[in-house]
Amino acid sequence: MADHPSIVILTGAGVSAESGIATFRGPGGLWEGHRVEDVCTPEALARDPALVHRFYDLRRAALDGVQPNAAHRALARLDAAWPGELLLVTQNVDDLHERAGSTRLLHMHGKLRSALCARCGARAAWAGALPPGTACAACEAVALRPDIVFFGEMPYGIDAIEAALARADLFVSIGTSGAVYPAAGFVRTARHHGAATLELNLDPSDGSIWFDESRMGPAGVLVPAWVDELLSRAQA
Ligand SMILES: [Zn+2]
Repeated sequence: MADHPSIVILTGAGVSAESGIATFRGPGGLWEGHRVEDVCTPEALARDPALVHRFYDLRRAALDGVQPNAAHRALARLDAAWPGELLLVTQNVDDLHERAGSTRLLHMHGKLRSALCARCGARAAWAGALPPGTACAACEAVALRPDIVFFGEMPYGIDAIEAALARADLFVSIGTSGAVYPAAGFVRTARHHGAATLELNLDPSDGSIWFDESRMGPAGVLVPAWVDELLSRAQA
């Protein structure tokens, strides 16, 4: 029986940027005069829920106008064709990976099109606006919030991600700055367990020195080429 390498892929804002998703990062990363770091916190949600909900309502509404790009489609093609273990971990809160067809997918920072009950933990698929004061269908508490990991909160699925990294033969980071922990540390965890490491990014990232190989360019070009290469090698 053929032995197929186990793969963990991490994607970040650089993958969605080519679909036109705003990142609010870097210089001038303001939304209506607020620093995004001041809007996306549990403290802001408690202090000014209308502001925080409106920020996510607008981002959720913006998903209607965007489409998956060649990088999302290539990763979905790999997911469908790869006979070995594969986990796609995304820091993105849009739904472009699932719209492209990826299924072995973990949203470590949550999802715009999901609501979370702060009381009972129930989740509901969500489209349209989520006004403060919306009741949970499961427990009836008026406690629904965006199902997003705010600054200062624990990312989702860390145990599953760490376990997958420990088994990985190949770790690939795509379109991430390498500056936001814990995701920025995944490459070192994978290396520690013996995985080969590859970075596909527009520019060298803060973590470039940790990768065996770095390829620089747009995700829409680099990712389809890498997927073709991997699949043709697996079939050889
Ligand atoms: Zn509830």
